Parts: sequence; structure tokens; C-alpha cells
Amino acid sequence: MSHTDYRLPTKDEPVILTRSEHPISRKQFDEETVKVLYRLYRSGYKAYLVGGSIRDLLLGRTPKDFDVGTDATPNQVRKLFRNCFLVGRRFRLAHIRFGQDNLIEVATFRRQADESDFPDDSESPQFTAENMFGTPREDAFRRDFTINALFYNIEDFSIIDYVGGLRDLSEKRIRMIGDPLVRFEEDPVRMLRALEFAARLNFTIDRETLEAIPARAHLLATASPARLREEMMELFRHKVAAKVLRQAGETGILTHLLPAFLPEEGCYRLIDQIDARTLAGIPVNEGFVIAALYLENFRRLLAATDELDFTAVMHLANTALAPHTRHFQVSHGIQHQAREMFLAFRRFQMGRGRKGERRFLRHPATAQALELYELWCRTGKGDPATAADWKEALEQSGKPQSVSHTPVKSGEKKRRPRRRKKRPAKAADQSASTTVSE
Ligand code: ATP
Ligand code: MG
Repeated sequence: MSHTDYRLPTKDEPVILTRSEHPISRKQFDEETVKVLYRLYRSGYKAYLVGGSIRDLLLGRTPKDFDVGTDATPNQVRKLFRNCFLVGRRFRLAHIRFGQDNLIEVATFRRQADESDFPDDSESPQFTAENMFGTPREDAFRRDFTINALFYNIEDFSIIDYVGGLRDLSEKRIRMIGDPLVRFEEDPVRMLRALEFAARLNFTIDRETLEAIPARAHLLATASPARLREEMMELFRHKVAAKVLRQAGETGILTHLLPAFLPEEGCYRLIDQIDARTLAGIPVNEGFVIAALYLENFRRLLAATDELDFTAVMHLANTALAPHTRHFQVSHGIQHQAREMFLAFRRFQMGRGRKGERRFLRHPATAQALELYELWCRTGKGDPATAADWKEALEQSGKPQSVSHTPVKSGEKKRRPRRRKKRPAKAADQSASTTVSE
């Protein structure tokens, strides 16, 4: 946005940009979102586009999704759309589905929840939800940053700004709505989101907002692990993980967010490499991310231990991952992926020519583990020539085969697997399927 002279909203009046005063056109919305907006509007309800989509369009970016805000209640929305179902326990949202992969979220305007919304004597979710409905103004003020609280009104194609988001957008600023100390206390995840949006959009964080972060950093330890886990993956998907983790280190939130992560230049550099890889179009998965975050922890454990049989290495891998996977309740499957990468990493470091190499090279986890090893070598810690050797060996070994789906050779009869004698169960976190090495 090039404008620099935005008017600011007052307590009573939002800033309203008429259609001729802003560049957003309905043609930029997806067709089905426009249909939803119009059906709501023609049925007598307010229908706004809300959240990140207006921010992104004003910045000339492509929005990830379009969210709709309305004064119709979830039940009223449901009556208007056949393809609609309600989700959410505390606050009901309407999901309207078009085809296989377009899902439009319609939320009733709501206000900031406060203590009185959760009286001890009311267990009823209905009671809570209806008490949380609000006006468009209240809906704007309950949002996190000013640039995330802009509305587009389908009635007259105007943009409505209750919070000064237009000015902050034009001045490239992340500013918390209201008192940042209070808003971070209400929801500590917002601290991480402030760093994330600043990194994604290349914006600066407003001074008051930034200064509130160290003061509230400790609260991140009490935030919902599930939400933090999701926001963490967002950092990697948006290729800003290294930048945000560095800033999280500087602002004091990192020790509360990822207490076991070693905030050292080498570790950040590996994350830089991952961001660059994602930027080049290779999607990240969580197993890969976790292995990268704690690779240095694993290496140190390895270096400090003399006797290293296979079980001992497994144990070290589990020890390096446990603080994270336990806190974030990471599934066994993902833990297994990360552990496999550690085991393969050790094998890569030991060099070629050891027993069982053929099998190792054909293992389905080896290729991805080698990618991690290559990235690590690029941080300056390892020898890229070793990585190149392994890469060549992997390419020569042919396509990796999935161990669990080895096809039956033609002419060979499918046999029922022989029954095995029952073995005593292994430790629970070591049991998941097959293992890369040794
Ligand atoms: P993107 O989807 O591109 O990451 P977004 O702005 O759409 O960005 P979402 O996480 O999808 O972000 O959230 C949608 C909107 O909900 C935000 O724009 C913001 O207005 C509001 N919001 C999300 N999280 C919070 C929060 N923790 N506190 C207050 N408001 C929030
Ligand atoms: Mg969104």
C-alpha cells in the first residue's frame, strides 16, 4: 500500500474506505466466498470478509483462505446453506463446504470473552456461546493485531477499520489491539504470532507490543501445547522459522517455548537451511522439523557416551526427543520418524562400508535422513564430501522400498506369515515399526 495519510478511527467512528478509495475488487475473492457473502446479505444479515484475507489483499499477496463474519447466528447460517455444518464446542462456527477442498468458515461476530462468560454454575455451551456474540466493532477489538482486524463489507464494497489497521498496514507495523500486557496475558500464543507475522510480512513490531513480550514471556509455558505446536509448524511452512526462533531467543520466549532447544548459532543455521529448502518448494513435515531442532542435543549425548550398541543409541535418540515429544504429545509415528533420522545420521557420520549397508540404503527413511544430513553439513559442521558419497550410493541402490509393503514377486505364492512365538514387549516408545540401521 502506498497511502501514508490514513485517517484514524475514533472511539465512535470507524474509518470507512469506499469502493473508490481502495484497490480490492470482488474478483480477487474466490467465487464461492462471494456466493456465501451474497446469500447472507440478501437474507438480511451483515456479511463481511474478515481476518487475514483483507490484510493480504491490501498487501498485494494471495490470501490463504477467506473467512466470513456475520451477525447471523450459527443456526441461522445453517438454515441458509445445505452444505453447512456447525463445528466448535465453546464457540460454534459454520463450515460451508464446496466440492472436495473448498471450505469456507463463517463466524458470528463475537466479543472478547471475559470471566463472566464462564460462570461456575453454567455448564451449558449454549449459554456461553450466546453470551459471546457481539457487534462488528467488538469483533474487531477481540482480534490480535490491528492489521488482522480489517473488514470488507459486501453491501457497499467498503473496507471498515475500527482499530487503525490501515495506518499500521501502510507503515508496515505489527501492533497489538489494546494493552499488549493484558492481551498477552489473556493468550500468550499471541507473542509467538507477533514474531511470526513480523517475519512473514517483513514488518516491524510496534515498540509497546515488543516491550511487552519479555514481560509476559514466562506465560508461554502455560499456553496450550496443541496450539503452540500448530503455530510452530506455521513458522516452518511460512519459511520464517529461523528468523522467528532467533527473535524468540532475543525476546526471552524461546526458553519457555522450546526449553530443550539449544539457542546456538549452529542450531539456528540448520533451521535457516530448512527454511531455504522449503522456499525451494520442498514441503516440511513435523518429524523432519523435530529431528532438526534436537539434532545437536542428540550429537552431544552421543559424544558423551562411550559404549554405543544399538539399544544405547536408540535410548539417546529417545532422550534427545523426549522433552519435546512429551510436552507436545507428538504421536509415536512422528517420534519414530525423527528417531530414524537420528539413527541414520549417526550411520552417515560413521562413513560407508559397514555391515548391512545395502539394506540401510533401501530403507524408506534413509533418503529423507540424508537430506537432513546434507543440510547439516552445509552449516559448516560436517563434511559435504561425505554427504555426496552417500548420495551417490543412495542413487545407485535404486528406489527405496517401503519395508511394510514389499510387493510379492511374480510366480511366488503369497504365504501366510509364520506364527512367531510371543516375545516380551519392548519399551513402549521404542516399539514403532522398523528401524533404519544395525
Ligand atoms: P494466515 O491464515 O495467513 O496465517 P490469518 O490472519 O488468517 O493469517 P489465522 O490464524 O488464520 O490468521 O486467524 C484468523 C484471524 O483470527 C486473524 O486474522 C485474527 O483476526 C484472529 N485471531 C487468530 N488468532 C488470534 C488470537 N490468538 N487472538 C486474537 N485474535 C486471533
Ligand atoms: Mg487464516
